[in-house]
Amino acid sequence: MRKKLVAGNWKMNKTFLTANELIKELKGKLTKDDLEKVEVVICPPFTSIYSAKKLLEGSGLKLGAQNVFHKDEGAFTGEISAPMLKSFDCNYVIIGHSERRQIFNETNHLINLKVKNAVKNNLFVILCVGETIEQREEKIHKKIVDEQVTLCLRDLSKEDAGKNIIIAYEPVWAIGTGKTATPEQANEMHIGIRKSLENIFGKDIAEGIRILYGGSVNEKNSAEIFAKSDIDGGLIGGASLKSDNFTSIVKSAI
Ligand code: PEP
Repeated sequence: MRKKLVAGNWKMNKTFLTANELIKELKGKLTKDDLEKVEVVICPPFTSIYSAKKLLEGSGLKLGAQNVFHKDEGAFTGEISAPMLKSFDCNYVIIGHSERRQIFNETNHLINLKVKNAVKNNLFVILCVGETIEQREEKIHKKIVDEQVTLCLRDLSKEDAGKNIIIAYEPVWAIGTGKTATPEQANEMHIGIRKSLENIFGKDIAEGIRILYGGSVNEKNSAEIFAKSDIDGGLIGGASLKSDNFTSIVKSAI
């Protein structure tokens, strides 16, 4: 049985103060019982990681980052390393989000370096994959996503993959657009991703890896999406910025 996971990607939103307010609201609305049934991770901007760590202590809510560099330390101005995140009990990290691929030109090769270094530092990696609308229209979406999974996880051991990897399937055309993949479309892609994982790591490991769906998930569509056989939760952007909406999404995963 794969435990469902719901992660909130706050992107470049919330100041120190407004982030604190949102965390306090979430703590008030998500019960210990909810958080035992669903793994819930919030990924605020780096500037709020320390205050989030303090506010989240003992709450059962987990802390993640939105990016990480692939070296542990050194002359890399502006970057943040895995040991820095770990020092704040920030144990999850989103890697390879489509905004980083598209706006910051991150390639599968760079993402693979980041994944390997994050795993070496024992971070749980939420690896994002997904096709553009053009790729879907050309009917190469399955091939593109298989390639992303294979290249981004290259050279990872079975053990590390089974323990530290979570995949988020996020069709680029559905992110922040209000257009969601239908639950059937998403589940079909998730089954394909699980097959890619099986080809790399074997069936047992592939069966245990959680595959989240992301792309305009909201409190109205989440239950139907999460009910599908191979959808193990969600990566939530816009709807994670309001405590009521995010709480409803989490509860729909129970
Ligand atoms: C995301 O940024 O990962 C995302 C899925 O965003 P949204 O929910 O806003 O589409």
